[in-house]
Amino acid sequence: MFDLIVRGGSLPDGRVADIGIRGDRIVEVGRIEAEAGRVIDATGDLVSPPFVDPHFHMDAVLSYGLPRVNASGTLLEGISLWGELRDLATVEDMVARALRYCDWAVSMGLLAIRTHVDTTPDHLRGVEAMLEVKRIVAPYLDLQLVAFPQDGLYRSASGRANVIRALDMGVDVVGGIPHFERTMEEGAESLRDLARMAAERGLMWDVHCDETDDPLSRHVETMAREVTRHGLGARAAGSHLTSMHSMDNYYVSKLIPLIAESGMTAIPNPLINITLQGRHDSYPKRRGLTRVKEMQAAGVTVGWGQDCVLDPWYSLGTADMLDVAFMGLHVAQMTHPDEMARCFRMVTADNAAIMGLADHGLAHGCLASLVVLDAANPTEALRLRPDRLAVVSKGQVVAEKARNDARLALPGRPARVRRRVAG
Ligand SMILES: [Zn+2]
Repeated sequence: MFDLIVRGGSLPDGRVADIGIRGDRIVEVGRIEAEAGRVIDATGDLVSPPFVDPHFHMDAVLSYGLPRVNASGTLLEGISLWGELRDLATVEDMVARALRYCDWAVSMGLLAIRTHVDTTPDHLRGVEAMLEVKRIVAPYLDLQLVAFPQDGLYRSASGRANVIRALDMGVDVVGGIPHFERTMEEGAESLRDLARMAAERGLMWDVHCDETDDPLSRHVETMAREVTRHGLGARAAGSHLTSMHSMDNYYVSKLIPLIAESGMTAIPNPLINITLQGRHDSYPKRRGLTRVKEMQAAGVTVGWGQDCVLDPWYSLGTADMLDVAFMGLHVAQMTHPDEMARCFRMVTADNAAIMGLADHGLAHGCLASLVVLDAANPTEALRLRPDRLAVVSKGQVVAEKARNDARLALPGRPARVRRRVAG
């Protein structure tokens, strides 16, 4: 007897299997004859592990237009607008906006999110708000919080002290923003400082690193060195790494092996990188996405992050990690069938590895969290970004949507149309 069986779905690897769930665990995968308290028929549909977003800013989410829109569209104007907003927003405002976003995320099968929390202001209201949100959503959504010194560890007067205060309050991950410190030297020093902090506290480390078009912004080199020095390995992630797009190829041929040697992971954010980078260029305009395929070829785990939804940096966003992967696939030109399959893993399994979510997946013993999509396979899911027919989190059905085919009124043509071709 099972609590829940998801019957007949196609798994991302192509197998067709029933999934038996008891409590909050997957206890059987294969052909199941037994009864269950509830059965979801997923015949012909893709059943995937939940989506995971390893890079987000939930303290700023759904604040687009507050206090006004970003007129230049640049990263720097976004940072300046946020600098005003974070002192105006109350804890209640931030909790309400974040919870509203978490509802969107759950409906899209996005069940684990790492969010950076700005620790710059001495009031630390963002930290207080996000700790509260983490507690509220914990039964159905896993939030990891990063202590993020948005205005610089050393560039703002209490930057370093506030990162430590936030970690002491229970924030999970050490952050950083070396390219925003006053000088290259202070950027490098901030990385040595933060790596020590992460190592001493036994925490993960995730740095906004080289989010710039400046090819000489080479902080990732120092970061990889510190990851190797402290043996942080996959517990460390370099977010953005956009300067690598513009770097000299000879230098990159030395850099990527150092990144691979360190074991650190990488998180490009394609929706935001394609929007914010290249703004100072005339033509040709650089794409500003880091070297995804080249890092993967060297064995580096790379996952797509979403970064922003309706905030001072980005005027759109849907909480759909398939939108993120779709943009990444285009900008990184990952169009081979193997590369498209990889793009799907980059918003599921690879992101789970980056966040250290050990029981993510559809194997026996994994957490009973999954998504049923109106598509036959991962490539079709990327193409259609289809409805999530059912979302299960930790054994509970937390979202459902009826299949919603279009009805045609055309003589001699079918009455209904679906844009699915496979399966
Ligand atoms: Zn970010």
